[in-house]
Amino acid sequence: MRNIVRHFILLLGLIMLLAGGVHAQGSRWNIYDIGGVKYVKLNDVWKFYRFSPKQGKPGCISYGAANRVVSVKPERQDFYVNNYRYILSYPVQRHGGELLISAIDMKKLVDPVLRPRFSKRSGVVKTVVIDPGHGAHDAGAVSPWAREKDCNLSVGLKLKAKLEKLGFRVVMTRSTDIFLTLGQRVAIANRTPDSIFVSIHHNSGRRAASGIETFTLAPQGTTSPFARSRRDEDLAGNDQDSENIALATAVHSRAIKSTKAIDRGIQRARFSVLCTIERPAILFEGGFVSNPEEGRLIATNSYQEKLADSICQGIVSYAQTVGGRGTILKSRKTHSGGSQKGGARLNGGTSYSGTTRL
Ligand SMILES: [Zn+2]
Repeated sequence: MRNIVRHFILLLGLIMLLAGGVHAQGSRWNIYDIGGVKYVKLNDVWKFYRFSPKQGKPGCISYGAANRVVSVKPERQDFYVNNYRYILSYPVQRHGGELLISAIDMKKLVDPVLRPRFSKRSGVVKTVVIDPGHGAHDAGAVSPWAREKDCNLSVGLKLKAKLEKLGFRVVMTRSTDIFLTLGQRVAIANRTPDSIFVSIHHNSGRRAASGIETFTLAPQGTTSPFARSRRDEDLAGNDQDSENIALATAVHSRAIKSTKAIDRGIQRARFSVLCTIERPAILFEGGFVSNPEEGRLIATNSYQEKLADSICQGIVSYAQTVGGRGTILKSRKTHSGGSQKGGARLNGGTSYSGTTRL
């Protein structure tokens, strides 16, 4: 049912949801209700960010400013920022000559990605909890070319070494070939203060399937294609929505850039490990062991290094952007020349501007 139920000037509502939108003062947001989901006009979104039409992804409608281009496809859930792919919770709708995007996608995806500095400061990221998926009798995806549990652990240990060199504390949910329940993995993160949680997996599927995808928890009130049921409690989100998408953006974009793998997008899910976690969290899928070409690559030391390196760089960027001031990195020189006890801080923690760097 596509009737417009409401159409009014919004001075509070959405604008307040958009966490201090300085450009939104006095803006008019038309709210449309389509099948119980609230939408806003994409033209209002472009205005809000002061975007103008741009050359973007083929087949898409693209707007942007400076070095940032956002592309959408009518009636699709694809959403691109500088060609990196996100999956919206709801498709972009056509309505009366206008394109509409859901208000929840605007609040929980578009705005945190385009303006991470407006996200709630979650405090300094001191510890990274690395969770290599599966283990022991649970091998995960298995193919003639690679065994998931081994690749997950290998990437995880390489990531640990890189992060520790930069001054982060690292907690591994497993460092050897042991079995842990999903609940045990989550409990480790939940009892580790000032931490983020990065679960490392590899995929399997059709022989031709390949590429990297990164999952974060579906925001509250949205359905997820990966939900196991549609019970009310499955619609719950958590209060780290903005951090989750910022962390996913930082890690995923670097992994795609570094590996040149197919970009399967930043996706929303209600996997067990993402549902009960009380820390910013992602589940990273580093490729398909079931694909002959990618499977062989994933088993190599050099590719695992590449994955670990891009996850590491993503975490560093996230820690500086959303984690706020005081992210101390021991081994890197700052771009702005400022130094802190124990080392230098990239970007000085405050000079970061615009989008999460892609
Ligand atoms: Zn897995």
